[in-house]
Amino acid sequence: MNIFVTGAAGFIGSHLVENLIARGDNIIALDNMNNYYDPAIKRKNIASARRSSRLSFIEGDILDVNLLEKIFSSTPIYVIVHLAARAGVRPSIKEPLLYQKVNCIGTLNLLELARKHHIKRFVLASSSSVYGNVKEVPFKETANIDRPVSPYASTKRTCELYCNIYHKLYGISTTALRFFTVYGPRQRPDMAIHKFTSLIDQGIPIPFYGDGSSRRDYTYYTDIIKGLTAAIDRDLGFEIINLGESQTTSLKQLVGIIEENLNKKAILQKLPFQPGDVEITYADVSKAQRLLDYNPSTDIKWGIKKFVEWHLSMKSS
Ligand code: NAD
Repeated sequence: MNIFVTGAAGFIGSHLVENLIARGDNIIALDNMNNYYDPAIKRKNIASARRSSRLSFIEGDILDVNLLEKIFSSTPIYVIVHLAARAGVRPSIKEPLLYQKVNCIGTLNLLELARKHHIKRFVLASSSSVYGNVKEVPFKETANIDRPVSPYASTKRTCELYCNIYHKLYGISTTALRFFTVYGPRQRPDMAIHKFTSLIDQGIPIPFYGDGSSRRDYTYYTDIIKGLTAAIDRDLGFEIINLGESQTTSLKQLVGIIEENLNKKAILQKLPFQPGDVEITYADVSKAQRLLDYNPSTDIKWGIKKFVEWHLSMKSS
């Protein structure tokens, strides 16, 4: 099956393409290698997949409509997996226009291509951040989420709404997956687990926001890839589905687990709770279980152990 994957050199994208290649799919992969974090990391992420004859990698932008049109006119594509985005809550507060352009216009460009080229299925990376400060936990897909607390969250919600529109108008099967803080080898360096691990390892203070009681549902990347792959394989009409681990860890506990695995003490730089951040994320995954046979199974302690092992192996490579 020919699958078009955007954001393929990123953390989640690079793991996904490796898995799809391994099961025999042909991948047309797009990434603009922007410098949100070091593009050399992205080149390394995608290096092994690029050695496969099943992968055709294009360095380009989802905002470049001519390029996209050329790709779709020359290759029959069955599914679009749209992972490319400006990610990150706090940077979106600084650059809301950029987030709006890349995330919303970029998604619309791809949905337009799906319409013109009669693409059967479209899978979107959405985010748990759309829940904002919803009080009822665990978060259900049916929760009222019209109070986002960051531009990033609002762009992801907008993309979900466009998916619904393109399903209703043109019958494209569109599935929006709400990822809950994904971690594991290759995690973006700006994300807490990665940032804390590097800083603690180097004896540099870590920014510690609030009193450490905020909680996150951290999801190991292998669980996300299973859920994502199941969504790639199914026509579900239009659905929004949580992909989390359905267990929460406080910031304080998280730091403790990283300390234990590094065998080093963290130096905390205590800072006030950040605008745009939320108190808790916690996924109800019963819909994913029902529609995607999704059964997340990674304990945070085991996952962090694996992450720290990877971090240490990168240092010595
Ligand atoms: P990432 O930044 O590692 O990957 C995104 C990739 O998209 C990058 O390689 C980047 O170069 C590429 N990209 C960005 N703008 C582009 C453009 N205009 N054209 C082409 N390529 C572009 O991020 P990730 O953590 O792998 O996240 C993947 C997706 O999942 C994103 O949509 C993100 O919003 C979403 N998500 C991630 C998490 C998480 O915890 N990592 C949580 C919720 C949602």
